[in-house]
Amino acid sequence: MKFDDYHIAPEIKKSLETAGFKKPTDIQFKAIPAVMKGEDVLAIAQTGTGKTAAFAIPVIDRLHKQKSSSRSEGIRCVVMVPTRELAIQIAEVFNSIAKHTRVKTFSVFGGVEQEPQIAKLEKGIDILVSTPGRMFDLVSQGHIHLDRVDTLILDEADHMLDLGFIKDIQDLIKVLPRKRQTLFFSATIDDKIKKLAYSLVRNAIRIQVSPKNPVAKNIDHSVAFMPMDDKRFFLERIIKENAESKILVFVRTKVRAERVFSALERMEIKSITIHGDKEQSDRLIAMNEFKKGTIKVLIATDVSARGIDIPSVDYVINYDLPEQPENYVHRVGRTGRGMQKGLAVSFCSPEEKPVLDQIQEYLDKPIAVLQISAADYAQTLDFTADSRDDLQSLMKEVAEFEGRKKKKKK
Ligand code: ADP
Ligand code: MG
Repeated sequence: MKFDDYHIAPEIKKSLETAGFKKPTDIQFKAIPAVMKGEDVLAIAQTGTGKTAAFAIPVIDRLHKQKSSSRSEGIRCVVMVPTRELAIQIAEVFNSIAKHTRVKTFSVFGGVEQEPQIAKLEKGIDILVSTPGRMFDLVSQGHIHLDRVDTLILDEADHMLDLGFIKDIQDLIKVLPRKRQTLFFSATIDDKIKKLAYSLVRNAIRIQVSPKNPVAKNIDHSVAFMPMDDKRFFLERIIKENAESKILVFVRTKVRAERVFSALERMEIKSITIHGDKEQSDRLIAMNEFKKGTIKVLIATDVSARGIDIPSVDYVINYDLPEQPENYVHRVGRTGRGMQKGLAVSFCSPEEKPVLDQIQEYLDKPIAVLQISAADYAQTLDFTADSRDDLQSLMKEVAEFEGRKKKKKK
């Protein structure tokens, strides 16, 4: 079946064509009719399989058709997401699909001035994409009215219903109209969260695509064993041998992100970091530089593991293993998106072995081991510019010091 055969507005078909979307993906094929019928849906499908359009197309279609027959005002649909970057990205997808309609989508998120957001809200929008914090601020100040919302979407639903966010979601549900459609989308979900999701809706139908293997099939992923101290040499080698590739490097903490950044700088590799301690404006700059490819290496914490869609990320490197097993799926899922193929490798030190075991248990199968021969290993350590650089800078310091001594003597 092609998008052409769907009962969706020609205005939407036109943008899908421009985007190069001809056929629906599996999850779109299964979810779009159910969402169009107005059902509550819990949809689980692997990373990069087009979940955003699976909910955006039917929601835009409905609002577009309603807007052409009556003047409907106010926010009709709320999409909740965990990060600001994801809010922006999803609003972009909605706006590009709705380009030829009068349906307007807007994202709000914290960390930036709220005045421009308020001005935009006052002009009138139909769909709001938001992180919980800023939305509640604007609701309590009376800039956002939720009394006409009839569709609530939780993207990265398992995360939105998990400890950090569940209270916000429960508070949100209290202020939304009782009669509404609720949609949950994610690549991962466990039984506990699934139950919680069902408790929030009446008759959710469940849609699941490839549930047995949470890692998308176009991702070739493996693990390499090495001591913690050798990781940087392997990182350097991969980056230098793949100079044209976009590489996303995940680390455990913000401090580790900055440390890896400095190590790469010493190796004369340009990179940029993104993590929760950075100003919002710097986070957006980092994301854009990486998207454009002006900087090919992005070092990130798990804030960027969920949902971010940068089509040509060739390589994901887990410099540190993720502590939450499901984040393995989300991190490696930043590559191999849509029809593309992706590579992912995890660096596992002896201390991280228990974390690896947990991840493998979660995946229900072992991750392929990247065998590194002794010769290759030695070559990698030799390959590095870091030790040479250190020696060079030391020599330079000594020379400068000697120079100063000579000057003083004169
Ligand atoms: P998910 O949320 O499942 O991780 P996204 O919605 O971010 O995935 O989509 C992943 C990529 O697939 C995007 O770059 C998107 O443009 C592309 N895509 C989505 N639907 C289609 C389609 N029907 N045909 C071709 N590409 C698609
Ligand atoms: Mg997504």
